[in-house]
Amino acid sequence: MNLRSEEDIIYLKENALLVSKTLAEVSKCIKPGVTTLQLDKVAEEFIRDHDAVPGFKGYNGFPATLCTSVNDEIVHGIPSDYCLREGDIVSVDCGTRLNGFYGDSAYTFAVGEIDAFKQRLLDITKKSLFLGIEQAFTGNRLGDVGNAIQNHAENAGFSVVQQLVGHGIGKNLHQSPEVPNYGRKGRGGKLRSGTVICIEPMINAGSRKIKQDSDGWTIRTADGKPSAHYELTVLIQPDSCEILSTFDFIEKTLNLN
Ligand code: MG
Ligand code: MG
Repeated sequence: MNLRSEEDIIYLKENALLVSKTLAEVSKCIKPGVTTLQLDKVAEEFIRDHDAVPGFKGYNGFPATLCTSVNDEIVHGIPSDYCLREGDIVSVDCGTRLNGFYGDSAYTFAVGEIDAFKQRLLDITKKSLFLGIEQAFTGNRLGDVGNAIQNHAENAGFSVVQQLVGHGIGKNLHQSPEVPNYGRKGRGGKLRSGTVICIEPMINAGSRKIKQDSDGWTIRTADGKPSAHYELTVLIQPDSCEILSTFDFIEKTLNLN
């Protein structure tokens, strides 16, 4: 695990703030009739206007600024001319790179009015992220974080995607440790002060089984049921963690708080 210096933390905070604000800009545009490619343009312009570059564009060959994953798509959806429809949910994952460091955050949005089942999936997934975050402090283990997420999701009758995990973040978008969204209490690597990790539950309404599209990117549920994804970056500290990115900007634009 990489322990971050004070200066590294400043740069990671800048990125976390920018990626949080970028998702809020995107959230202002999410409504029926908008294409996911239009959302991508909004995000790219906003990031470049802040003297940063999109963190995902070109990463392992990914072609866009955002991953936009609709309904049964879990993650890594490629923005396209798909028009969002009333009742869709869209998971938007965004990365930034500024001053040599990365930011990475995700939020699942409702498009217009969604049904109660999808709303419950969003609520449970977001809550599972915050329950995981509560377990992220010095001396606790990765299994404690994953277990809190898994328990909450499975108690609600949902399932946890296991092939994709959270991660450390710094000068690399993805670095050690891996942060699974499942696990057993007291197992896994010990969290150390100064480590910065992204916690990002991907929760399926049905089975946890996944499949990949022929585009080589899009991951979707095998049973066609919807999936949700929320991601925040946290700095491990004694007794608790500092949450570096935030949903506050998004939820202000959505009038959720
Ligand atoms: Mg992400
Ligand atoms: Mg991530």
